[in-house]
Amino acid sequence: MSDDEYEFCEIDGLIFSISPAQVRNERPALLQINPAYESWQIEGVLNHEHWEGQETRAGIREVVRGAQVLAEALRAAYPERRFMIDNRLGCGVLSFFQAHPGAPLADDEPKEPLAEETYCHVCGKRQRYHLRPQPDPEFPELEWADCATCGTELYLYCRSRLSVVGPPAR
Ligand SMILES: [Zn+2]
Repeated sequence: MSDDEYEFCEIDGLIFSISPAQVRNERPALLQINPAYESWQIEGVLNHEHWEGQETRAGIREVVRGAQVLAEALRAAYPERRFMIDNRLGCGVLSFFQAHPGAPLADDEPKEPLAEETYCHVCGKRQRYHLRPQPDPEFPELEWADCATCGTELYLYCRSRLSVVGPPAR
């Protein structure tokens, strides 16, 4: 989604960026899949949006700008509330949830072992790569590499960048 216009709704204390009709539709379906979903998980799933063009650094920059637009919209609509924005770098999935008790404050997902090959979007297939020894200054969450065949900049895996919006927790 590249539209700057967010319209939020509140249902049973939960905040959504989809319409109330969609929430009424999708929330029971979600709870049928997993009845143990907590409030922040329901918000996180129903509020997620997908961004295209995530093969390149420029594409990731777009969704980072999108996360800023979302943060501003949330701040303007609910200045007294606290949210977490979950920007899943590399996958192009942007979402948010309220900082309910028990909601994650950091990406504590275990790091996967690195595969020998990864998909190169220029070569159009999986290739060996040279991992960069230093963390990337702009997106240190991701593992950056260069395609061993064509030299294109690549990254491996997706990681969440979580950011807080709103007043400090009391
Ligand atoms: Zn390549």
